Amino acid sequence: MIGVFPEISGRFLIDGEWHKAKETKQVHNPANIDEVVGEAAACSKQDVTQAIDAAAKAFKTWSRTSVEERAERMKKASEALKPMIEESVSLFVRENGKTLVEAKKDLLRCVEVMSRMADTLIEWWKPVNVGQSAQTVQVRRRPRGVTAVISPWNSPMILTFKRAVPAILAGNTVVIKPATNCPLTVLTCLKVVASSFPDGVINIVTGSGSKIGDVLCTDPRVRAIAFTGSTETGKIIMSQSAGTVKKLFMELGGNDPALILPDAELGKTDIQRIRMGVLRASGQVCSAIKRIYVHESRYSEFVEKLTREFERVVVGNGIHPDAMMGPMNNKAQFEFVKDVIERTKKSGANVAELGQKMDTETWDKGYFMLPSIVSNIDHDHELVGVEQFGPVIPVISYSDEEEAIEMANDTPYGLRASVWTQDKAKAREIADRLEAGAVFHNNHTIFQDLRLDFPGIKESGLSRETQWGSLELFTDSYGFAD
Ligand code: NAD
Repeated sequence: MIGVFPEISGRFLIDGEWHKAKETKQVHNPANIDEVVGEAAACSKQDVTQAIDAAAKAFKTWSRTSVEERAERMKKASEALKPMIEESVSLFVRENGKTLVEAKKDLLRCVEVMSRMADTLIEWWKPVNVGQSAQTVQVRRRPRGVTAVISPWNSPMILTFKRAVPAILAGNTVVIKPATNCPLTVLTCLKVVASSFPDGVINIVTGSGSKIGDVLCTDPRVRAIAFTGSTETGKIIMSQSAGTVKKLFMELGGNDPALILPDAELGKTDIQRIRMGVLRASGQVCSAIKRIYVHESRYSEFVEKLTREFERVVVGNGIHPDAMMGPMNNKAQFEFVKDVIERTKKSGANVAELGQKMDTETWDKGYFMLPSIVSNIDHDHELVGVEQFGPVIPVISYSDEEEAIEMANDTPYGLRASVWTQDKAKAREIADRLEAGAVFHNNHTIFQDLRLDFPGIKESGLSRETQWGSLELFTDSYGFAD
């Protein structure tokens, strides 16, 4: 059973009270599926409506508290969360499959988001006067109302906190619906955070999104939805919430390309960065490199160098400090990626399974997968076109730059991309033509700086991520003219 607060297992939070669910679902350790880490509540539609009732009631007073009080409470909550990080790391690894390093980084980011956003709030909230000849208009802000935060399993902590924190600071109340297969760290940490706020400001329900999500999408009292997840689910949420015209924050799927130009350096640092870009969190990152286009003159050399790098990767239970890559997060994801790889093998592409098993005896007990490089593969292959979300990377040869740009853009997604060349001007020129929210030069990573805001484009979403942009998203500006 779970570590830090066993009493939250199988429970959900409404109006300051942790309710026991009638139905629960076991949360298993993906590194050892025989280990039950805890239970997640399978909330009913009625539970979700009650959570909205509580949030709507609390909104009446929370929306009228001063910005100073909201910021102070958030700062207090971040201080309360800090000492829990060390204790929560192992729970996070056990329910999610991340490595210790990945899990700790995510938790620390949550604390940082809370204190940085709280610091931003007071200055940002101040009304602005815009003078006109006949009148002065004061631009003021007010919170929207009940906000639903729906988050995925791949980075459940930071992707819940990055949305819920600005929403609460802006004076909204929230109903949070984390992914059901690994919500225990989210519940544990939010238990501490929620106690710094009045009852009903933070409510949490868990359960199958496809069964209960429509309640959040259709209730007219929910005025904004912050969703992070697949493009497929994002589209359902967009259509279900159209009837009540909600404000939507959508961070959706990706299929990021990396373009290796003929003059790329391909030194040790580059190859390491590419490995990280592909294999961070076992490839289960929305902005992971998912396809690599290499100029034909460097193709064999590139595959050879990346192969040597992938061979070093030790795959095992993330709780062990030597594990460089943990298991896949869940059975459905594991089976999906395994099946795509099987079909890829049958199609005649060359699939090289690399890396090292940390522990062969327990290997079959978890959703472990060795990292693979797929060569001798064309752009129109299934593996290149889908968001496969696993530790497998297709490497495609190209002969001409125009062709490479065209293939990179040939996707419904537009999250991130990277260009690998020694010529910075050339990288910038290509970046202008790549359909992505951000383009990296000789890197492919994750923005940590809360001042940066590069939402995905095309079917990767609509969002605002900065410390200011996200506050903006959860408020309405209005004019007071006199
Ligand atoms: P998912 O879309 O299956 O689920 C995400 C969340 O939505 C879960 O909490 C789920 O229960 C809920 N949900 C499912 N159906 C719903 C419905 N009809 N109504 C309301 N809620 C519903 O995604 P996932 O498999 O958990 O996560 C992986 C996906 O998330 C990948 O596509 C990945 O690219 C994407 N993602 C995007 C970003 C980003 O910032 N762009 C970040 C992380 C993950």
